[in-house]
Amino acid sequence: MQVQAGDSGLQEWRTRFLVDASGRDTFLADRLALKRRSRDHASAALYGHFRDARRNPGTAEGNITIAWFEHGWFWFIPLKDGATSVGAVCSPAYLNSRRVDPEAFFRQTIAMAPEIADRLAQAELIGPVTATGNYSYASTRMSGRGYLMVGDAWAFVDPVFSSGVYLAMNSAALAADVVDSVLDYPARAPALCRRFERTVRGGVRTFSWLIHRVTSPVIRKLFMAPRDFLGIRSAMVSLLAGDVFRPGPVRSRLYLFRTLYYLNFIADWPASFRAWRRRRRDIRVSSGAA
Ligand SMILES: Cc1cc2nc3c(=O)[nH]c(=O)nc-3n(C[C@H](O)[C@H](O)[C@H](O)COP(=O)(O)OP(=O)(O)OC[C@H]3O[C@@H](n4cnc5c(N)ncnc54)[C@H](O)[C@@H]3O)c2cc1C
Repeated sequence: MQVQAGDSGLQEWRTRFLVDASGRDTFLADRLALKRRSRDHASAALYGHFRDARRNPGTAEGNITIAWFEHGWFWFIPLKDGATSVGAVCSPAYLNSRRVDPEAFFRQTIAMAPEIADRLAQAELIGPVTATGNYSYASTRMSGRGYLMVGDAWAFVDPVFSSGVYLAMNSAALAADVVDSVLDYPARAPALCRRFERTVRGGVRTFSWLIHRVTSPVIRKLFMAPRDFLGIRSAMVSLLAGDVFRPGPVRSRLYLFRTLYYLNFIADWPASFRAWRRRRRDIRVSSGAA
């Protein structure tokens, strides 16, 4: 493999095992043609950093705020240096409707979310506005002979719940154990990699189910009127904290949450069906644009 290490020019390295942690550059997935755009989700993002955005009062100052709007949802993330990261995750169709420059479009989009617009009334944009097209993908494989992928190098899911860094770090920690064992016991590599894949896929799948539905009317309804029915609320909190990689009570309560979701879906089927159709259309449109 060719490596650029510091100023010493290109070098040829032979490795016993390769861990791809190249993030959305998807170093190996591109070379092995394994990368697939998500068929279950289509979203795009528009974001920038602001100074003097109005934060939550008191000890809640550092809390993240999420706001829904007509075309998706906003994140409002206070950063340590006083800046605030604000972004709109929307359908690729909405992003494609842009006829003005990204900053003007971002400001038009912010105006659609009164809560966010209000917090930014006195704020100043302190960097460029970035637009990212449909960005959810996964590679068909996570590991193979002599390699594995961690974090975004394998898959990127919409970071609705700020799950990206956690998922990446968790897969890296699991991968470190795999590599440690594989270097000592190469014959065990296939079984260890299979287990690694199963664990990471299971956790990401659990997150993804919720993320794919987060803008649906049913999820909004359940989230806006939370009750700790049979421990489901606690299970959701555990999920959001990243406890999705092991079987146990959290998993079973999440299945209960899914049942509640489908019951509510049926109870309000016209609105749910419309939202479901819109989601499928967005996926079709963005796949067609590939
Ligand atoms: C718009 C947006 C908003 C997000 N918001 C959040 C959020 O609020 N919370 C959250 O948890 N996550 C968020 N994420 C997701 C999060 O950023 C990623 O999931 C996370 O950074 C993945 O970590 P990683 O280590 O896999 O990849 P990265 O953090 O991307 O790191 C990959 C590194 O590899 C380097 N690299 C790439 N190719 C090569 C190469 N060939 N040689 C050497 N180095 C290379 C890159 O320069 C980079 O430093 C967001 C992502 C996006 C796009």
